[in-house]
Amino acid sequence: MQDSPLRYLLFTLIAFLVPLQGNCGWYSESWNGMGTRMSVEFYAVSDEAATQAIIFAKQEFARIERMMSSYQEDSELMRINSLAFSRPVKISEELSWVIQRSLYFSDLTNGAFDITYASVGYKYDLRHQVMPGEQEIQSLLPAINYRFVALQEDGFIQLRNANTKLDLGGIAKGYAVDKVAMGFLARGINNAVITAGGDSRLLGDKNGRPWMIGIKDPRNPEAIAVTLPLDNVAVSTSGDYERYFIADGQRYHHIINPVTGKSAAEVQSVTIVGSDATTTDALSTSVFVLGVDKGLTLVESLPDTDVIIIDKNRKMHFSSGLRPPQ
Ligand code: AMP
Ligand code: MG
Repeated sequence: MQDSPLRYLLFTLIAFLVPLQGNCGWYSESWNGMGTRMSVEFYAVSDEAATQAIIFAKQEFARIERMMSSYQEDSELMRINSLAFSRPVKISEELSWVIQRSLYFSDLTNGAFDITYASVGYKYDLRHQVMPGEQEIQSLLPAINYRFVALQEDGFIQLRNANTKLDLGGIAKGYAVDKVAMGFLARGINNAVITAGGDSRLLGDKNGRPWMIGIKDPRNPEAIAVTLPLDNVAVSTSGDYERYFIADGQRYHHIINPVTGKSAAEVQSVTIVGSDATTTDALSTSVFVLGVDKGLTLVESLPDTDVIIIDKNRKMHFSSGLRPPQ
């Protein structure tokens, strides 16, 4: 083919196509945020589009963290905790929506998901191995009840118990992931994985193949217990290995049973697959508290929702949509 017209044509074609395509391809970035690890991986048409998408994702996650964090004293959420017992507090539409969604999941799960768990929960400091004493737990336990949260239609919120506190750690990451996903779609990014800690949203697939999502082994988080091929869904995992310490042979971790005010102990990890990350985040925390039987019953009653539970004996339980063929 040397010096043939065909060879010339081929070179001209390549020379024309390369600049036309720009640098379209796969991009990824990860960073620390929302008390955990955040990441995005996506397909973009150019370096410039990718840079803009990463800037947007970082800003959006940071904006929502400032609004919903329990670690930032001046967050909108912390304003509720300090003021909303004495008087109604005006909050943003966005925060109001997330709290309303939280109350919906409280009703759905019979109170297993309850953002007022924080009334006792804030007494735990897992990083410094601090936990409340039995008496302290019992005295604050009556303040855990989502019915004390009065969300008004005019955008005001009031707490009906002096000791009630809110924490959105079981739903805010999922919400933030959904917001970033919506922003990506609006920018024409249709193939992406957006992750905040254990919560991910998958847009489209990867080069025509499903994304491969690994579920960690709860007792060896470096290892993968099972891999799921998934596309166009959200997936959240709640595990007792994320934030914990062990004292007197007992594991104290960050998912609290609202009935006892103590760490839920029936299972080691729960992975929910569903349509959006706000839902999968709330449900993974919920099923962790509910345990195997009630958790499976709940998930089977919901459309487009599946679960993998690893119980306290390391046995895996699958909902019907994920059960491997016998
Ligand atoms: P996740 O890792 O998504 O399961 O969320 C765990 C986080 O949810 C904890 O760090 C707490 O901030 C919050 N949380 C713990 N227990 C509950 C509960 N029973 N209901 C709602 N949120 C909870
Ligand atoms: Mg969750």
